[in-house]
Amino acid sequence: MTRFNTQLVHGLPIGDNATGAVNPPIYNSTTYAFDEVGAMPRYDYARSGNPTREFLERQIAQLEHGTRGFAFASGLAAIHATLSIFEPGDRIVVGKNIYGGTYSLFHDYFSRWGLTIESVDTHDFQALETAIAGDREHGVSPAKAVYFEVLTNPLLDVNDVRGIANIARRHGALTIVDNTFVTPYLQRPLDLGADIVIHSATKYLAGHSDVNAGLVVTLSEEVGNRIYFAQNRFGGVLAPLECDAVRRGIQTLALRMDRQQANAKSIAQYLLAHPLVKTVHYPGLPGHEDELREKGLKGAGGVLSFEVVPGVDPADMLDNLHVFRLAVSLGAVESLAELPCKMTHFELPREERLKVGITDELVRLAVGIEDEADLIEDLGQAFDIAYTKYIERHSDVDLFAQLTSGVFA
Ligand SMILES: *Cc1c(COP(=O)(O)O)cnc(C)c1O
Repeated sequence: MTRFNTQLVHGLPIGDNATGAVNPPIYNSTTYAFDEVGAMPRYDYARSGNPTREFLERQIAQLEHGTRGFAFASGLAAIHATLSIFEPGDRIVVGKNIYGGTYSLFHDYFSRWGLTIESVDTHDFQALETAIAGDREHGVSPAKAVYFEVLTNPLLDVNDVRGIANIARRHGALTIVDNTFVTPYLQRPLDLGADIVIHSATKYLAGHSDVNAGLVVTLSEEVGNRIYFAQNRFGGVLAPLECDAVRRGIQTLALRMDRQQANAKSIAQYLLAHPLVKTVHYPGLPGHEDELREKGLKGAGGVLSFEVVPGVDPADMLDNLHVFRLAVSLGAVESLAELPCKMTHFELPREERLKVGITDELVRLAVGIEDEADLIEDLGQAFDIAYTKYIERHSDVDLFAQLTSGVFA
């Protein structure tokens, strides 16, 4: 068996290549000829199966150590199909801090179809077990699944997949993990006891901010059959050209992620030492090595967040970046910066936001593969402008006295 980096480049050839082309062909055909009436061809109609899509689906199943893979037109289409395997009355326990679109899909859509959603802090194993176990005496049956993200967004708390999956398994619940922020390069949740892994392949896997895609991998054939039904009946499949764009992105995943992590680590250290920065959230900083290892992660990825000190307007800094683009999304070759309270998380009521720690001063960076020095210089000049504007606003107060008295501590 080949190793991970080789699998990224080559995937699993599907035995259709008669020309020697080193890349798998892109099949646009939506229909496939039968040899004769009554034949059962491998492909008949593209929603049900397409060779270009099948290449990608087999590859992600291989990379995540699962049995079946599925490609969808977006991460949310993948999540929709996955949650559709449950039935009215089923209870799903959901991590407190999940992607906004997923949160809305649970609360504004699946709740209407009869799923009962219970949000829980997945770091609190006692609370998690209570939520999953239910309360049979009072008619609350055990949860059918627990759903969470390995690294929370934008605060980068590390969830313990093994610990959570152990609890879920004890009560017969499936463990569903959104592995978008981590990728199989840094962790394979199925190896740690999860049953289903989901990706917004729009992010690291495709890696170039040029394709919307979602992937699902199942541990078992049986769960795979249920996802396949949803894929084939809802029809939210990924188109052949997009499948190929994701395949090509995956080829360089490890190289990109190595550079993104190295850049993110340097930037996190730079931010820690910057006087306008109050806190830095990045599990790739020194001191977290044991936590990452114990939770089965090989690295912390390329996303980090930080808070500016009170009084400094984070918009003054963000509006003056030049190498970092002011944009949502993450995981691509170019560096992006954003203000969660006004951009990725603006739909969360302020009270809710503050409860989970997403303050008005919190900035998120999705670090790309550019030169580290250019990224740090870009942040530095933007901080300088934010500082000048701060001084202008506070020209009547003695800033030096405030600094030395620890107001900014
Ligand atoms: C972006 C994202 C999604 C949704 O994926 P789309 O491809 O935008 O539909 C789901 N989960 C996480 C963690 C994401 O970052």
